[in-house]
Amino acid sequence: MEKKQFKTESQKLLDMMINSIYTHKEIFLREIISNASDAIDKLYYRSLTDDTVTLKRSDYKIEIEINKDKGQLVIRDNGCGMTKEELENNLGTIAKSGSFDFKKDNSEQKDVDIIGQFGVGFYSSFMVCKRVSVLSRAYGSDVAYRWESEGVEGYTIEEAAKAECGTEITLTLKDDEGEEKYSEYLSEYKIRYLIKKYSDYITYPIVMAMPEQRLKEGSEDEYETVYEKQTLNSQKPLWKKSQDEVTKEEYDGFYKDKFFDFESPLKVISQKSEGLTTFEALLFIPAHAPFDYYTKSFEKGLELYSSGVMITEKCKELLPDYFSFVRGVVDSADLTLNISRETLQHDRQLKVIAKAVEKKIKNELLKMQKDERENYEKLFNAFGSQLKYGMYEGYGANKENLKDLIMFHSSKEKKLVSFKEYIENMKENQGAIYYAPGETVDKILMLPQVEAVMEKGYEILLLTEDVDEFAIKMLHEYEGKEFKNVCADAIDLTSEDDKAEKEKENEKNKELLDFMKESIGDVFAVKLTNDLGSHPVSLSTEGEMSIEMEKVLSKMPGADKSMMKAQTVLEINMNHEILSKLKLLFINDKEKLGKYAKILYAQARLINGLDIENPSEYSRLVCELM
Ligand code: ADP
Repeated sequence: MEKKQFKTESQKLLDMMINSIYTHKEIFLREIISNASDAIDKLYYRSLTDDTVTLKRSDYKIEIEINKDKGQLVIRDNGCGMTKEELENNLGTIAKSGSFDFKKDNSEQKDVDIIGQFGVGFYSSFMVCKRVSVLSRAYGSDVAYRWESEGVEGYTIEEAAKAECGTEITLTLKDDEGEEKYSEYLSEYKIRYLIKKYSDYITYPIVMAMPEQRLKEGSEDEYETVYEKQTLNSQKPLWKKSQDEVTKEEYDGFYKDKFFDFESPLKVISQKSEGLTTFEALLFIPAHAPFDYYTKSFEKGLELYSSGVMITEKCKELLPDYFSFVRGVVDSADLTLNISRETLQHDRQLKVIAKAVEKKIKNELLKMQKDERENYEKLFNAFGSQLKYGMYEGYGANKENLKDLIMFHSSKEKKLVSFKEYIENMKENQGAIYYAPGETVDKILMLPQVEAVMEKGYEILLLTEDVDEFAIKMLHEYEGKEFKNVCADAIDLTSEDDKAEKEKENEKNKELLDFMKESIGDVFAVKLTNDLGSHPVSLSTEGEMSIEMEKVLSKMPGADKSMMKAQTVLEINMNHEILSKLKLLFINDKEKLGKYAKILYAQARLINGLDIENPSEYSRLVCELM
């Protein structure tokens, strides 16, 4: 029989297919099943207007048969079938040259990914087959034809017999070679797994005989394998149903199955959009972070479907980094499986969908914060750092979007509050939002400045994570209120009289304070203050960098520690008896005063959670005193 050649470009694509990397090979089944489903669609739609089509909706199905002896997989549909010309035109060529313009412009690696993500239809079967045979009878025709090919060489077409219309594809698998075990596609379990993974929502039943162990008749301990036909796909995707059609149990079960979580999600978000791009999304907020969430190996992304057919498991373009914890599915009929469509078009459609999904997530999170507080707090405990990083990232490009989702522990409420809630509870005349960074809530509450500000009745946001202060600095202000670090910024809670008195005292004791600064050495200034309640000393900073920022930055790999110094100020409580002692020493014993200054500075550093530069000197000085 005469062998016909594939068109040149088809030949190139075949080459590319055959040499594609192994992990993508399994998608051949998805492609063949999609074609079968499309073919049934065509006949079914025709039946709506054409009385000669006698099949009922429930008659349509796709059958899979495994022939282990022959190493063959058979996929059969009762759809529209193909005429001889159609076989020739559809399978003999990949006429859409768009796919090849695309190939030329891209590196090898990218081609391979396109195969994995969007597939190239029927040809992908050559990734796993040494021979493909297509027996097809078009609806309304009496004759059937067999198209057969062993890959690049070409193909043959001959007349053949087939009782019903439709198509039967026989795939003869390649022989196993080392790592590449093509024979695994002869396992019923593997096939069932692949159908579940890629084709679960094909709207026609996909039927296959599954093996089952049964007791032999009349025997008590002897088993035999019986095959029973099963429908492998669940057909209607959950996201196509409206939210009140689905129970919470169904959603939870779906989520746990699909995303391998043992805990139910905190929230289910269902979205349908029929604008510029039509799509459905079903999104889940997990109750806890996956073990690798804060590591490099974590991959964000939503599962992307095109009309019920899975295209990619983790489409990262659909989620911004700060919502990377969201799991779920997006399905759009506007995306096609065919790479011949401009890839740019995919990009644009994906972007439109991504924007809409992002907006939806944000609004749902805000609602959750308001109406399901406990769940929101759980979410924030698991993923709050990610949201705060999001605010800081990209020089604050997304801060407006995220600022209302952020919460911090409140010194007054003893729980997480948002900036909005903080502002609503602010004291009259309070000009700024107060915060204090530190290692833990308890440690921050013990800081002298914090105690003093709290005593005056103000609420303070307690920042305990590395990213916190950076995020807040990026935001700069909220509803016109600046953020102020009670341990660093001048916050002016004192009355005018107190202020004047403080200035006077500092002026009066200038020489004493300068002497102490000289003795300590690495301090930016020594000052008297009346803001410390009953505490003798504390540390504050001047300039942009706070003590907490110094700690975080100096921990970073490759940090130049000398560049990352906060300008520390030793604050001495002018109402504390220690001051009169210092004044006396300044007159009588300057040497001792120098030592006292060092001890007080070391204490202040310790209170604020900083190391002391020279612990053995500190220890010696304290012992001398004793
Ligand atoms: P695509 O499905 O993206 O168009 P394929 O290479 O998978 O590309 O298939 C080429 C064409 O062959 C299909 O568009 C369809 O017209 C035809 N075809 C493939 N499989 C079948 C089938 N099972 N029944 C009828 N026609 C089919």
